[in-house]
Amino acid sequence: MTQAIEPQETDGQESRAPLLEIRNLQIQYDDSSLIGGDPPVRAVDGVSLDIRRGETLGLVGESGCGKTTFSRALVGLESATSGEILVDGTDLTELEGPALREWQRRVGMVFQDPQESLNDRMTVGEIISEPLDAHDWQDQEEREDRVFELLDRVGLQEEHFYRYPHQFSGGQRQRVGIARALALEPEFLILDEPVSALDVSVQARVINLLEELQADLGLTLLFVAHDLSLVRHVADRVAVMYLGNLLEVGRTDRLFDAPANPYTRSLLSAIPGSASPAPDELGEITLRGTPPNPRYPPSGCPFATRCPAKIPPEKYPDLSAEEFDAIETFRAILRERARSSSGVSASLKRRLGIGTSVRTVDEIATELFAGLDLPPEANEVIEDARTSARSDPAAALELLRTEFASVCDRDPPAEYVVDDTGRTSRCLRHREEYDDPDEI
Ligand code: SF4
Repeated sequence: MTQAIEPQETDGQESRAPLLEIRNLQIQYDDSSLIGGDPPVRAVDGVSLDIRRGETLGLVGESGCGKTTFSRALVGLESATSGEILVDGTDLTELEGPALREWQRRVGMVFQDPQESLNDRMTVGEIISEPLDAHDWQDQEEREDRVFELLDRVGLQEEHFYRYPHQFSGGQRQRVGIARALALEPEFLILDEPVSALDVSVQARVINLLEELQADLGLTLLFVAHDLSLVRHVADRVAVMYLGNLLEVGRTDRLFDAPANPYTRSLLSAIPGSASPAPDELGEITLRGTPPNPRYPPSGCPFATRCPAKIPPEKYPDLSAEEFDAIETFRAILRERARSSSGVSASLKRRLGIGTSVRTVDEIATELFAGLDLPPEANEVIEDARTSARSDPAAALELLRTEFASVCDRDPPAEYVVDDTGRTSRCLRHREEYDDPDEI
């Protein structure tokens, strides 16, 4: 249920018309025929989002969370399993042939690694001209003029036309990539980690160039990145993605100053050093384990297996935060063990020397629960799980899952409006009956 709080404070961003309206977009990869009936990978799992004309939207999240798949879908390079991507009332997911090519002409893409994304056997002139050739843009002479204009536009020289990518620095190569993306005068640029392969000083120059281009050409930018400090600098709004879901979307200043979702808080707190944009009082949150396999996402909240603010189990309402945290850490360790041991036999592991120095589950459990005074019933379950984990970690996991089930394991969180600018967050803690994430 979405709370009905009318947006009041605006900075002009809220009133901009959307260029793209994405509605419940799902992208799944079903390769079950290859691996014997496994469920599909849910790369993008029901994303709804507007991208407003002229804004820079930052899309952040850990590697593998679905950012790139989502971005590629916006330009027709990934097929949607369901949902809509509307532009001026037309659903892009339905387009093909000339209509899709016409939309692709309106979008430019800049990729992460300029070294990888430029063909080293083509001259810079040929590279920038490629999209013009592909779309049969004007005649040969006009294409050449356009390439020279673009070189100038991105701060390169005429003589660079005949050079090859390997003769350029990383920053210059990324300028070539930007020139290529701008060739067909797009209105929308998708920048997929555009500066993460560059030195910091070069990053700043490329970012300045992008900002200039946006102001001069009125571009809409989708800036995909894992570097939150960078996103804070460039984006008007930020969308935070986890396991193919958007967990928080809102104005950059609000989201960085007072992150509403536990996942956003965890990401911000992980930014090292004094440059961290996280509020001081946030402290450092260490995320347990790794993100779940998108083929088997949690059935409740996607972040439930790692969330530091997870709501305690209904069956044990008196567990302290420390006790619940130890149980959740124990579950995460069993999950990781089950995942890393699958497919490799014990004898092969011994021969390869894998895991020989790793502590047993028993030793870990002893350390985790030392000094804690668990309620007797909970303690009994932990002891059973320890015993069962020696021979059957999956059974131990199942026991812990059923005994210590939280509402977060069961209910997918709805989208809640969390401030007067219309920022949204998906977390059950926004329900009235629970403490807000920032009170944990
Ligand atoms: S719903 Fe629960 S698990 Fe998900 S972010 Fe909120 S507190 Fe954490």
